[in-house]
Amino acid sequence: MLALKNLKKTYVVGGTTTHALNDVSLSFRKQEFVAILGPSGSGKTTLLNVIGGLDQYDSGDMIINGQSTKNFKDIDWDAYRNNSIGFVFQSYNIIGHLDVISNVELGMTLSGVSKAEKHAKAEEALTRVGLKDHMNKQPNQLSGGQLQRVAIARALANDPDVLLCDEPTGALDSETGLQIMELIQELAQEKLVIMVTHDADLAYQYANRIIKFKDGEVLDDSNPYDNTDGDAKLDMKRTGMSYLTALNLSFKNIMTKKGRTFITSFASSIGIISIAVVLSLSNGFQKQIDATQAETSAQYPITVASVANNSTAITISNEEQTAYPSTDTVIASEDEATANQHENNLTQEYVDYVQDIDPSLIAALNYTYAAQMNMLREVDGEVQSVVFSNYEQDSATGDIQSFYATEMGTGASTFPESPEGDDNAFLSENYDVLAGDLPSETTDLVLVVDKFNNVNINALNNLGFSYEDGEAINFDDIIGTEISLVSNDAYYQELPTGNFVPNQDIAVVYDNDSNQTLRIAAVIRPKEDATMAILNQGINYSNALTQEVIADSQDSAIVQAQKDSDLSVITGQTLDEEAKATALTSLGADAMPTSIMIYPKDFETKDQVLDYLDAYNEDKAEEDKILYTDLASTMTELTGGLMDATTYVLVAFAGISLVTSMIMIGIITYTSVLERTKEIGVLKALGARKKDITRVFDSETLILGVLSGLLGVAVAYALTFPINTIIENLTDLKNVAQLDPRHAVILLIISTVLTVLGGHIPARMAAKKDAAEALRAD
Ligand code: ADP
Ligand code: MG
Repeated sequence: MLALKNLKKTYVVGGTTTHALNDVSLSFRKQEFVAILGPSGSGKTTLLNVIGGLDQYDSGDMIINGQSTKNFKDIDWDAYRNNSIGFVFQSYNIIGHLDVISNVELGMTLSGVSKAEKHAKAEEALTRVGLKDHMNKQPNQLSGGQLQRVAIARALANDPDVLLCDEPTGALDSETGLQIMELIQELAQEKLVIMVTHDADLAYQYANRIIKFKDGEVLDDSNPYDNTDGDAKLDMKRTGMSYLTALNLSFKNIMTKKGRTFITSFASSIGIISIAVVLSLSNGFQKQIDATQAETSAQYPITVASVANNSTAITISNEEQTAYPSTDTVIASEDEATANQHENNLTQEYVDYVQDIDPSLIAALNYTYAAQMNMLREVDGEVQSVVFSNYEQDSATGDIQSFYATEMGTGASTFPESPEGDDNAFLSENYDVLAGDLPSETTDLVLVVDKFNNVNINALNNLGFSYEDGEAINFDDIIGTEISLVSNDAYYQELPTGNFVPNQDIAVVYDNDSNQTLRIAAVIRPKEDATMAILNQGINYSNALTQEVIADSQDSAIVQAQKDSDLSVITGQTLDEEAKATALTSLGADAMPTSIMIYPKDFETKDQVLDYLDAYNEDKAEEDKILYTDLASTMTELTGGLMDATTYVLVAFAGISLVTSMIMIGIITYTSVLERTKEIGVLKALGARKKDITRVFDSETLILGVLSGLLGVAVAYALTFPINTIIENLTDLKNVAQLDPRHAVILLIISTVLTVLGGHIPARMAAKKDAAEALRAD
């Protein structure tokens, strides 16, 4: 069944040529016990390895069942080894990290035998070699003779046609050696057994054919056979190892060296740890910066007021002058503030332009109007005038005019319009509703309290309540409070003199059909993490309500009268132009806001907002330009630069860590490859393909990668606590380092992918290792 024809194999090492096989021609029977006898270095192992397909011959041919092997590919040799050949080595080559039965099952694992069948066959083979009781032991619990029995069982388990034994008793005492020989002799009853030995006594005692070998040549053959074709059909089923088997094999290997695995995964996780820490820090810093930016922009919105400072004008005027002149004059000049003061004439065009701003750039937009609202409320059966104000009113005079005087310019707050269109988006994003519901109508009001639930006592008492300082008021006493909003025409009465006074018959005014009913709909409080809690304490209402009041007031008799008169139609005082404009505005004559406040989302979008506002002025004449005031400008530049610098440093750190991590993994895998050389040889002898070997090491690095990833993330998470304590002590910033769970998952994946990548090259090296050489390495 097996024939060798003029086989030659030569090794050239450093100029010395060794003819390990020198024109060997031999034929073997389907069943016989052949002993190859020869001195050390005569080429016996080489012959066996060539026959077993572990090593390739240089020239000649090996005929298996009449088939030449000249054109065999790797995969054919793998299948041949796995299905037809059983190897037994002098040094047993049992894989130390697998228990006895798993060692025996290994060859079948490669040929894809089912688990149950594998187990049954392995048990059978172990029973045969007398080790049934030891099958769950670890290799290091067995004696040399028992290990060699395991090796024989492993060779037998897959029921090979040929059993190749290389000095099987060489490492055993003579007593045990004889037992092994008897076992092999028994097997030779049913298989072709080729045994290499340099012990002539053993050979003559057990074998039925002795081939003497010297310097790679056959000296003598006691029982030659000249059939070169063979008869039985060899089973050449392809082999292959599943990823699961590879994983299992590697997992068992790793489990035998837990301590070392822990240290190596820790070492390689350092990269992951540093990236995770860097990420959690930058994560936290980013959040901190975002919050600061949002808060800054909440505190210092871009403001378009009636007057702005023209900063470009300053530079120009200074540029025209000579510094440190040697003249004997002083120059009378306006102070800078006055010189550069720019009057903004807010027009509908500009308001529309601002309204058209890209909603994604801004968090909120707020308009201030100076129009006053005429309001009455019935308290304890008595109607009285009320105002939205946090200032203490002079209740003694009861003069509504005095309210105006105090209220001018300060105004009650209106909540900003939400750029996204949802009317309550701003409120629900930044405020918790403590009672009631967010406004559903323009006439719905909200009462804003601070984080202690404080509300300015004036805000309540100006609505007609009479609370003491420190008094606790039930939400129920506030929610639903109704206030009558009265139009100018209903509120003011024209006197025969042409002057106007508030109608003294307040109860009649209160009952006017045209009155609108305002209602306190909700008590709201800034959220703990709100960045845009910009509303004043006290009563707030929608911009739409103001618009309605203004629309209604513009046509009122008092406004018309005031427009036509240079005297105040209420007090009769002479008004200059400015005072007249103010009076008109407060009566609701002016539809233009007195100021617009724009709250950008963050500093980056703020730049875009400013660009947008600048674009408006491009083709405008000087007096038509609308200039804004950007109070937060200096802060923008500062944090922007800091942010960039920090980012670069962090990115550099992360990069270095990544590279270190990869190199680390490569080294670790390479070490593992060196260490498991024997195992690679055994796997190959059992028919493992290159691919399978790669898989074994890839799966080892996969396990290492997952382990180091998990470890890295866990350690980094644990580190955030001391880091936060340190940062808090140094800077007062709380909870800066925050590990984002998404980052943790990504890092775990990165660790795994990088580890497998870093380990893949050594794994490929392992697969390419010469099996024959690997097994010789003792
Ligand atoms: P034996 O098993 O009879 O002791 P071997 O088959 O191991 O002999 O070796 C035969 C000869 O081939 C020896 O001279 C040995 O040094 C040489 N040899 C074996 N393998 C190699 C190798 N990989 N590289 C160089 N020389 C080798
Ligand atoms: Mg040898």
